[in-house]
Amino acid sequence: MSGADFSALDRAGLNLQAVFDLAHLPAQLRERLPAPPAAFRQLILIGNAGPALWRAVCAEGIRSADPIDDFSIRHVTRWFAQHCPGHHSHRLYPGNAPVDLQTLGQLAGWHHPSPFKVGIHAALGTWFAYRVALLADTDLPPTTAPATASPCPRCTDTPCITACPADAMAGGSFALDACIGYRRLRGSRCATTCLARLACPVGAAHRYDTAQIHHGYTHSLHMIEYFATDRAARKD
Ligand code: SF4
Ligand code: SF4
Repeated sequence: MSGADFSALDRAGLNLQAVFDLAHLPAQLRERLPAPPAAFRQLILIGNAGPALWRAVCAEGIRSADPIDDFSIRHVTRWFAQHCPGHHSHRLYPGNAPVDLQTLGQLAGWHHPSPFKVGIHAALGTWFAYRVALLADTDLPPTTAPATASPCPRCTDTPCITACPADAMAGGSFALDACIGYRRLRGSRCATTCLARLACPVGAAHRYDTAQIHHGYTHSLHMIEYFATDRAARKD
């Protein structure tokens, strides 16, 4: 198989791609993956950067409760069939398999930790995400990750920390409970966004559209409320 042609995915906004040989992944990460058939030698990681994916999803039409996942799976499945004929894949993500996406993102040169725990890319800022991970029996050229440095150690005024209305990073680490507690408040300014994320200047040109930010944070708040209600019910 010759070099991978990801242009169809680029056009769909699935514009971050990395290929790993399973044999070269860190043992800890590899051992947590479901045991693949012997012929499955590679892991293909697909992400999105910037607003292009959301715009492509909207152009096709919002048809389900998980329009970004459904769109991503559909386009990656179509890409694999067209560009890897005769090969087979098994989708790890989205799905129930334990996949350490953040470590894969670090290996791909995409992901550095940020004070508010959303991964930050040296050029794209926090405006990227993981969309699909596949195991495959392919022999695509593995990605050579560029050496990138986190922008956070050089960020002296840390506007993300001061912008957070819950002071969730004021103690020097991220207080998830403070963030969630604030997000659940009536009238919260973080019900459908993250003010810390918006305050970060890195990659501002790649910021998601407001509608995408609203969609993502509305979904995450629904999940928070669902699990809070579920936990309360289990205590009864
Ligand atoms: S505002 Fe500064 S410290 Fe915060 S995420 Fe952005 S670069 Fe990192
Ligand atoms: S969502 Fe709001 S409360 Fe949570 S980290 Fe972001 S700015 Fe802070």
